[in-house]
Amino acid sequence: MTIPFHSNSRQNNNIAASLSAALSQHDYCDDASFGRSIEQFERELASYCGARFAVGVGSGTDALTIALTALKLPPHSEVITCGFGFYATAAAILRAGLTPVFVDAEPDSYLISPEAVLAAITEQTSAILPVHMFGEPASIRELSQIAIDHELALIEDCAQAVGARHGDYTAGTFGDSAAFSFNWSKHLSCTSNGGAIVTNDEHQVETLRALRAYGSAGGFWHPEFGINSKLNPFEARVLSAKLPHLDGWISRRRDIADRYRKNLGSCALLQLPSPSESGHVYHKLTIRHSRRDELREYLKQHGIGSMVCYPHLLGEHTPVASRSRSRDLTNAKAAADTALSIPIWPELTDVEVDTISEHITAFCETP
Ligand SMILES: *Cc1c(COP(=O)(O)O)cnc(C)c1O
Repeated sequence: MTIPFHSNSRQNNNIAASLSAALSQHDYCDDASFGRSIEQFERELASYCGARFAVGVGSGTDALTIALTALKLPPHSEVITCGFGFYATAAAILRAGLTPVFVDAEPDSYLISPEAVLAAITEQTSAILPVHMFGEPASIRELSQIAIDHELALIEDCAQAVGARHGDYTAGTFGDSAAFSFNWSKHLSCTSNGGAIVTNDEHQVETLRALRAYGSAGGFWHPEFGINSKLNPFEARVLSAKLPHLDGWISRRRDIADRYRKNLGSCALLQLPSPSESGHVYHKLTIRHSRRDELREYLKQHGIGSMVCYPHLLGEHTPVASRSRSRDLTNAKAAADTALSIPIWPELTDVEVDTISEHITAFCETP
């Protein structure tokens, strides 16, 4: 049996009829049909998140870049984010003309430490950018209090966290704005690339809409320095067809995570992710082992895909290194050295999850 790290094929097969129906609803003789598809998904996403507005853009990277640009922060001012993460977060800060400052994660976690944020604030700081890494909500209440106390902007990177809820918090609704990604690997995915910015701020939303459309205010007048990054209308239709299934898929991801936790709970030296009470939607299921690379190779030999997310700290990447600042990153480094993401897509069967668990258990039992 081979089990890929990630696959959309069973999911797409399960909802093939509604995907085809959604795509065939286009009226090719009506030019406005394309715009309506985008607006419809924007309304559905905003309502799903419990926010006022959503603005569809070409990717999650563009969503972050546009969200940061719209805030009109002082050029080159500092944006504090976690040193452990996916490159796009750092790249978007740089593209927006700002300076990333990387701080540590909380111990045994992939989430930005509020204490480390506090310690990193300087006169140059203009924003905090928490990432809800792997689908687990960051300490958003503490972070938003810090942002209020220090008059900083707060932008949530929700690329891995659509649908995450914790108490009365829904991912994407606590900051000035939030960036979402729907690329093919995310847990709400279109067929190639797509993204959105969610905000409750009606002044922001005009700027966000202009920035994704060449900075235009209409009538070929360009008051903003924007880019061309609209959500593709076909992708919008795919996303509209999938959104009603999202909560069911998240609930299945949580069941799989519980099953892994139960199966692997007694494995020596293996660290498991937080339980679902944290609001985790398990975009990725990430475990830790000191012999991580050997474990990955062992799983590969048994036909099981896995992925090292992410082996390099953000400040280490060549385009970022000389244009950022890094604080103490002890916990982030431990994550980069030992984390391994294993399959968690919702269409995995219990038998498959048990098979993966058995191989991991066998590895942990060999010295
Ligand atoms: C995927 C991702 C992005 C970028 O989204 P794209 O749609 O691939 O551009 C940004 N931040 C995080 C945390 C991501 O996982």
